[in-house]
Amino acid sequence: MRFTRLRLNGFKSFVDPTDLIIHEGLTGVVGPNGCGKSNLLEALRWVMGENRPTAMRGGGMEDVIFAGAATRGARHFAEVALVIDNAERLAPPGFNDADTIEIVRRITRDAGSAYKANQREVRARDVQMLFADASTGSHSPALVRQGQISELINAKPKARRRILEEAAGISGLYARRHEAELK
Ligand code: ATP
Ligand code: MG
Repeated sequence: MRFTRLRLNGFKSFVDPTDLIIHEGLTGVVGPNGCGKSNLLEALRWVMGENRPTAMRGGGMEDVIFAGAATRGARHFAEVALVIDNAERLAPPGFNDADTIEIVRRITRDAGSAYKANQREVRARDVQMLFADASTGSHSPALVRQGQISELINAKPKARRRILEEAAGISGLYARRHEAELK
């Protein structure tokens, strides 16, 4: 599964619809301070089901919605879409019926978040599982936040183990076992 496109609308500083094509081999995004590089990475985490406002550098989940600027009013919703190439059909059941998967997450002020997979409504849990299995989830070690390297060096053994388990691709199994135990 390969990410091919990231579309943002009203997400943080990306107030106008923005369509980013993710070419194979993309390894970095450069630009002046404050241009939105970290916001892009956060959009990627968010559409994969990130629910901790702190991971989005906010106090609440609605803080991802464009808050207004000197010349622009605030928006009442934010939407991020992630397009995945599934030509190899490696997605888990429920997502694996098409060559392309488009996951859309939308948050509306006072109404919370909703997810869609190829236009069909899905649960946050399903989206989180999709990416946990693909080892690319919102907690994935493939996404390195500013300051995260020093956090890793200073981490306690338990926290460091979680990072290694995510890298090894087994955290999806833990989540599934936890769900099975609850049933
Ligand atoms: P640096 O090089 O300093 O790391 P960066 O390119 O990573 O910068 P970001 O942190 O992604 O920049 O973007 C910061 C900008 O996004 C700031 O100007 C901030 O005001 C703006 N921003 C963040 N959240 C919102 C929001 N909810 N509404 C409007 N603007 C926002
Ligand atoms: Mg940054």
